[in-house]
Amino acid sequence: MRLATFSTGDGHHLGVVQGDEVADVTAADGRLGPDLGAVLQAGLLAEVAGAAVRAPRLPRAGIALAAPVLRPPKFLAIGLNYAKHVEESGAEVPAHQLWFNKQSTCVIGSGAPVHVPKASSVVDYEGELAFVVGRRCRHVPAGRAPEAIAGYTICNDVSVRDWQFRTPTMTMGKSFDTHGPIGPWLVTADEVPDPGKLQVSTEVNGERRQNSNTADLIFGVDHIVSYVSHFMTLYPGDVIPTGTPSGVGAGFKPPKFLRPGDTMRLSVEGLGEQTQRLVAFQG
Ligand code: ZN
Repeated sequence: MRLATFSTGDGHHLGVVQGDEVADVTAADGRLGPDLGAVLQAGLLAEVAGAAVRAPRLPRAGIALAAPVLRPPKFLAIGLNYAKHVEESGAEVPAHQLWFNKQSTCVIGSGAPVHVPKASSVVDYEGELAFVVGRRCRHVPAGRAPEAIAGYTICNDVSVRDWQFRTPTMTMGKSFDTHGPIGPWLVTADEVPDPGKLQVSTEVNGERRQNSNTADLIFGVDHIVSYVSHFMTLYPGDVIPTGTPSGVGAGFKPPKFLRPGDTMRLSVEGLGEQTQRLVAFQG
């Protein structure tokens, strides 16, 4: 299933994307609200599939999809997880996984505009495979990691490079409003046979900047689930991007940072595409 959330006249609804249509499962079954984490927590995925069969259908063209998880309980991201990106960053291959926070308030839908903020013009893209946690769990062995995952989506870990390196935590430069596009939808794990073999690519204004494969991850999805669950409990709806390949704007000489009017197109094999336009912050 491809699970999405979208805005309607009476708030957000949960939908199942089927071809050119979206089945409005919230309209079909009031228990299935737009909080995907709550639906996962309650173990209602089978009900979602059932509701999709009888739900009213809306043409996808007329719908702006929101993030599949509107406010993830956790929105963690990992640094330096592809060898060539480590190289372009001038860093050393990390001995341990490097985790940092993106604040959940920076989450937007996959097609919503991304701000070039007032505070900086050093804005960069990072196309990434992300997974969404499906159940509460702790101390997960790598071999059982698939049981923890509800599905996969695309994340643009938009980064404000000057603010990112003002502190060792990177939190500021990773959490500007609108800098966490997620989507377009969640593809449930049963439809992603091997998350370790997915092509990841990013274009800016039609120019291919990133083109890699999750086979090149230093720490793969299974090891990520295991490692993170050893220092914190994972909750349904947590969104965890897995790192970006080489080709970020900061890696070019001279750097190619994003400007208002630019268009980013991100894809991960089998998970669809995101397209965002950069706009100058207004207000
Ligand atoms: Zn990243």
